This record gives sequence, C-alpha cells and structure tokens, in this order.
Amino acid sequence: MASLLDPAVALPAAAVIGLCVGSFLNVVIHRLPKMMERGWADQCAELAGREPEAKPRYNLMVPRSACPACGHAITAIENVPVVSWLALRGRCRACKAPISPRYPVVELVAGALAVAAVWQFGAGWKGLAACAFLWTLLALAFIDADTQLLPDDLTLPLLWGGLVANLFGLFVPLASAVVGAMAGYLVLWAVYWLFKLVRGKEGMGYGDFKLLAALGAWLGWPMLPQIVLVSSVLGAVGGILMIVLEGRDKAVPLPYGPWLAGAGAVALFFGPAINAMYLR
Ligand SMILES: [Zn+2]
Repeated sequence: MASLLDPAVALPAAAVIGLCVGSFLNVVIHRLPKMMERGWADQCAELAGREPEAKPRYNLMVPRSACPACGHAITAIENVPVVSWLALRGRCRACKAPISPRYPVVELVAGALAVAAVWQFGAGWKGLAACAFLWTLLALAFIDADTQLLPDDLTLPLLWGGLVANLFGLFVPLASAVVGAMAGYLVLWAVYWLFKLVRGKEGMGYGDFKLLAALGAWLGWPMLPQIVLVSSVLGAVGGILMIVLEGRDKAVPLPYGPWLAGAGAVALFFGPAINAMYLR
C-alpha cells in the first residue's frame, strides 16, 4: 500500500498543500500590514484619550476576499490556486479589472518550496518544519518589499519555532540554535549602530535583527556569516538591477528583509555545502 512517506505520494501532496498555503500567504501579505496599521491607529487614539474609531472587523478570515476594483466577492471556484488565475486570464470575472500576476507567483513559489523541502528533508517532522520555515520567509519577503515592515507577528514565532525545532534536534544542536539566535540579533544590531554613528542614518530596521536571529535559531550560528554575505551580495546586485532596469531612486533605501529571507532559504538547502566550500 502506498504510504504518505512514499515520494510518489508525498511530493504531489506537498505541491498541492503548498499551492493552497500560498493562496493563504497572499492574504497574510496583503492584510497583516493593514491589521498592524489599524492596531497602531487604535493605540494612538487611546493614548490621545480618544475612543478608537469603530470599524468593521478586519482580520485574516474576515471579510471574504473581494475584487479591489468592483467589490465582487471571490467565490471558491475563482479561488483555486494558479488554475483560477489562468482560467480567468488574470482578470476579475465581474469587472475584468486585471488581477496581479503576483498572486499565482506566490502560490507557485510556495508550492515549489514545499516540494523542495519534502524532497530534501523527507515527509516527516523535518520536512514539515522546513515548509513552515520557508513559507514564513516567503510572506516576510513580500511584506517587507511592499511596506518596509517585518511584522513581529511573523519574526518572533519564526524565532521560537526554530528553537523548538532544534530542541528536538531537527536541524542543528540546540546550543548552536540558541547562540545563533543571540548572535544573529547582535551582529545586525552592532552594524546598525556603527552605521548610525558613522553615517548618521539608519541602514536597516529592528525587524532585520529579529529576522537574522530567527535564521540563526533555525540554521545555527555557523550559518550566520554566510547568510550575511549572501544577502549582501543579493541585495547589492538586486539594488543595482532595480536602479538600472526600473529607474528606481537611489536615495530610497532598499528593504534588506527579502534578501535576508532569500539567503536563509539558500542556507537551509545549500548552507553546509557552501560553508564547506569556502572554509576549504
Ligand atoms: Zn472586479
């Protein structure tokens, strides 16, 4: 009898689950920053001694997804990952307003990451943990690219998740994970203050420290130099390409989180091989 651990079953299952999770990640990427803004507005009102404005409920579940152009509620059949977007040719069924190709792209990437994780780490706890790690990084990368924010609601559970995974020794020894979390935070914190003292401006935000701490918790401290190096190279190349190809303003700071997240994903799969290469 075919078991779930059989790659012929596990890999297609990972692909389908990954696509569906990707669909949910689209909601997280879109709504979490808005939920944070509403929270801040309420806190400001409270501090100023005003009653927080009464607003309709807004969270990851409520209200249902709707077309931003016409308000047409997305039905279940229009919400099938990738397939619906292709069938609708990237347009709203009611008003034909274009739907960003980013939605199917996030779904496809989430599916591909799940397949890669199960392929590399098997259809057990380790593969499942790797999926959770990669999906969270995917959401963080897009949220940071959109809003220059790395929400604590994602970075902190990611950090704790890494410590718990390694409490059970899934990826690295617990000691390496704890040192990795502390060193990850401190390294960027030190760079931040150095940059601030020397240049008088801020090169990154506290979210970046927490993200590198989380990567250290998952992957262990020996991966940190590699992650900083790879993310800096990716960021520099990506930044130059965006300035040259898209005419992006040089003065606008680039978010660092997406490159950190990318370097974390690379380190999960290829980290030990890369470290062995340059330490030799
Ligand atoms: Zn519409």
